[in-house]
Amino acid sequence: MEYEAVIGLEVHAQLLTRSKLFCGCATVFGSPPNTQVCPVCLGMPGVLPVINEKAVEYAIKMALATECRINERSVFARKNYFYPDLPKGYQISQYDEPLAEGGHIDIETADGKTKRIGITRIHIEEDAGKLLHGEGDGEASLVDFNRAGMPLIEIVSEPHISTPEEAVSYLKALRDILLYLEICDGNMQEGSLRCDANVSVRPVGSKEFGTKTEVKNMNSFKFLKDALTYEIGRQISLLESGERVVQETRLFEPSTGKTRSMRSKEEAHDYRYFPEPDLLPLVVEQEEIEAIMVMLPELPAQKKERFMKEYGLPSYDAGILTSSKRLADFYEECVRLFEEPKTISNWIMSELLRLLKEHNISIEETPIGADRFTALLKLVREGKISGKIGKEVLEEMFATGKDAQTIIEEKGLSQISDESELLTIIDKILEENPENVERYRAGKTKLIGFFVGEVMKATRGKANPQLVNKLLKERLDK
Ligand code: ADP
Ligand code: MG
Ligand code: ZN
Repeated sequence: MEYEAVIGLEVHAQLLTRSKLFCGCATVFGSPPNTQVCPVCLGMPGVLPVINEKAVEYAIKMALATECRINERSVFARKNYFYPDLPKGYQISQYDEPLAEGGHIDIETADGKTKRIGITRIHIEEDAGKLLHGEGDGEASLVDFNRAGMPLIEIVSEPHISTPEEAVSYLKALRDILLYLEICDGNMQEGSLRCDANVSVRPVGSKEFGTKTEVKNMNSFKFLKDALTYEIGRQISLLESGERVVQETRLFEPSTGKTRSMRSKEEAHDYRYFPEPDLLPLVVEQEEIEAIMVMLPELPAQKKERFMKEYGLPSYDAGILTSSKRLADFYEECVRLFEEPKTISNWIMSELLRLLKEHNISIEETPIGADRFTALLKLVREGKISGKIGKEVLEEMFATGKDAQTIIEEKGLSQISDESELLTIIDKILEENPENVERYRAGKTKLIGFFVGEVMKATRGKANPQLVNKLLKERLDK
């Protein structure tokens, strides 16, 4: 029997506000433990939460960017459970009346088609603190409350995802949107973007869903893909051997590439949700939504579309160039300086991105600005240097921080020193002057001067004379 997977993701994104969700504490990552805390986020008796307006604005931005409906009225709720990193004994979240519902994100599937992944809901909630294990004598567990009360949005997808690859595409697209909106730094290693994956399998063609498991603890795209691949395989083997999938929460272990059971449904929490009595329902007026709507930047999908139309780029180029906002900005800066959009795209994709990767730096840190990059492309277009030499010059620019012109002058590269280029010219000239070739070969070797002159004429003086001499001799003495 053939099986197919059904996947839905729950993604937590930490919002880039300066202060926490319900108090004025700072949100700087990596501060010493318990230095960004106050009675509110420590859950002291008698304190009252006050909602962070910026967090609401950011959440609305994400909801609008994914075309969710924004509920005029949403309600904060207490999600009760005991854990040492949760000082209040509950987390303030949103439950049956979330901020936004019914959106979507479009992804590209393996066969190049667009697939729409539904978004069930987006809600606002606070983060918990963090346990640090193996502290002190190596046996103590300590708790850092800096993260307690940090603002999060949770984005829950519909079970519309069918493969691990699609899950990765979806998470990448979601992350791109967050980055474009500048509401989350998207750093998965630091936990600013976290993903739980719900997955089940069913026989192909079946309408009903199978029993799902939820996999936690995946902090990279690769882990998400590996965890899902493993989990789908595990579930299929269970079914094939006549066993059942148990609904449970599982943990992905990067060291083994496997998932293992964390808790079964029987042990699942009963969170005893109830409306948070210390906060009023969140009311979002239509004018507020409209004001935020006009602040929305162009989003990745729109930008890709525009790049294809405006610059005549293929979908592939446009997809890569808009994969980061900074890269897209860099590209457009280049186009403003040099009106050959496809040439720029080629050079960015094949050369600049390769160099960035080799040096392990991002486009934000590129040592070559758009002005210098396009100056190089202009030199290539003018024929001052060949494309091949241009690539070498670019590497040199990367390594030394010098501009193209300086490197060309210093290295005498403006001359044509490209053997194959010169040989093409030389062969043409030899072909056009058969009598002189014969006379040379019959002993009139002084004719070498004539041939050198011809090559210089043809290259407008840019050929490297020593090289031309050498190549001519090789050809004529053959
Ligand atoms: P829970 O109450 O266990 O958290 P939800 O119904 O809230 O379950 O769904 C959580 C996530 O699981 C959503 O992303 C949803 O799309 C996905 N999901 C629900 N049912 C299935 C299923 N049978 N297989 C895979 N994913 C599922
Ligand atoms: Mg869940
Ligand atoms: Zn605080």
